[in-house]
Amino acid sequence: MSVIEVMPSATSRPDAPSEAFLDLVPRDFARDHLVLSRGGMNGTERLLASRRTPLIVIHNIGVRLGADTNIEFGDDEAIAVAIDKAYEGRRAPQPVGVAGNDAVVGGADIDRLLAQADRDLLTTEGKGPVVRLVDALLFEALSRRASDIHVQPLEDRVLVRYRVDGVLQTSRELPARLAGPVVSRIKVMGRMDIAEKRVPQDGRATVTIGAGEHGRAIDLRISTLPTSFGERAVIRLLDTSGEEHLLSFESLGMPKATLDLYLDRASRSSGIILLTGPTGSGKTTTLYTTLRRLASRGDRGDVNVMTIEDPIEYELSSPEIAISQAQVNAKKGVTFASGLRHILRQDPDVIMVGEIRDAETARIAIQASLTGHLVLSTLHTNDAASAVARLVDLGAEAYLVSASLSAVLAQRLVRTLHTSCEGRGCDGCFGTGYLGRVGLFELFVVDEQVREQIGSGSTASVIRASARERGMRSLQAEGERLVEERRTTRTEVERVVWGLE
Ligand SMILES: [Zn+2]
Repeated sequence: MSVIEVMPSATSRPDAPSEAFLDLVPRDFARDHLVLSRGGMNGTERLLASRRTPLIVIHNIGVRLGADTNIEFGDDEAIAVAIDKAYEGRRAPQPVGVAGNDAVVGGADIDRLLAQADRDLLTTEGKGPVVRLVDALLFEALSRRASDIHVQPLEDRVLVRYRVDGVLQTSRELPARLAGPVVSRIKVMGRMDIAEKRVPQDGRATVTIGAGEHGRAIDLRISTLPTSFGERAVIRLLDTSGEEHLLSFESLGMPKATLDLYLDRASRSSGIILLTGPTGSGKTTTLYTTLRRLASRGDRGDVNVMTIEDPIEYELSSPEIAISQAQVNAKKGVTFASGLRHILRQDPDVIMVGEIRDAETARIAIQASLTGHLVLSTLHTNDAASAVARLVDLGAEAYLVSASLSAVLAQRLVRTLHTSCEGRGCDGCFGTGYLGRVGLFELFVVDEQVREQIGSGSTASVIRASARERGMRSLQAEGERLVEERRTTRTEVERVVWGLE
């Protein structure tokens, strides 16, 4: 992916545009979007653009030129005049569009494709425009760093929304008649049955977004669901070439004091470590970061790390790191519980179970941890201290929970303020004021005092209050700290910690 850098100031007179730009970007395209080169150097194209120029257009040009781009904003009228002058006497070049290869998704101007798709649907059966429209939506979603694309048919239109940093944003509204063709195209990509429109379906696909060395492989998980206005589709984008699943704890935002305590528990050879938090709170990333760290530790020699997951989100193994990952398969009888039992016959040291949600899995996980295995898993509770009560609710004996539980890490992700615009909202953050996310962590360490409390049947609130008295930082306190550091807002912390929208 090309890098886009936005320069803060407006500009004086434009410098001469690069030949590459004039060759590869058609005049009409430049004129429509008010964008012109000011020359290129060392793989970076300097662009003069209007504040109205969509970022995806800049992306397209960067991909097209195979260059990073840096933008300076100028006056619309002056840019238009400069474009006319620059293209004077040149022949029309080939148009910018989606790369020809089926598996390669390039950038394209969505508004044009949309108009084209809409028009062609009325006149022909041609599927080309819809294919390109879906490709362009994928490209746009990726350039906005979206994790999911929602295609949601309504009575009179189709909403296309992107989930960015955990929050759904309405991106586009398509005419209602495009619902069927767009969802059908998505189903074709996922090798799903396009004739069957009355049952929910799941599919997968891998596409390369961007061309050449800028291409990135993206795994798509596609799900459709019939609704009263037609089939709804959600595409999850898993960027397998991205770095997100290979983060360091520091870049997850874990404070050093919390990290030291957490790693102390994670480097023991037995015990259960649980991560809690709602879907999308970053638990998997933290688990994966932990597993890779444990598997690559030289000072402990070779460690057999095995997982049973639903689904496997990323392949964790690399030439230096060996981790065996298995996936739940309900149809074939592979559940968390049965998978865990099989793993125990494979001489593991560290085991990750995707989730503990039934009595049997809880029982086997406890047994495994008491017989010299480190067990990592997730649990659905709001805060760390409630994990004890949850395990007991699942049927685990309190004395076994107290003997096996080592630590519980509650986690949330809060959006961080966009530093360039200080949260006021700009083109760089699509007007939201936020860019990127950072973790909030509450680490509950099970010590002697907690063991006694569990043994004597203390309630979650007593255990929680006592842990806080002894220094446990709550999610809320950590959120307050980030607000004070002006890294996020109180509204955002409340939304994430309390589920307030
Ligand atoms: Zn901004």
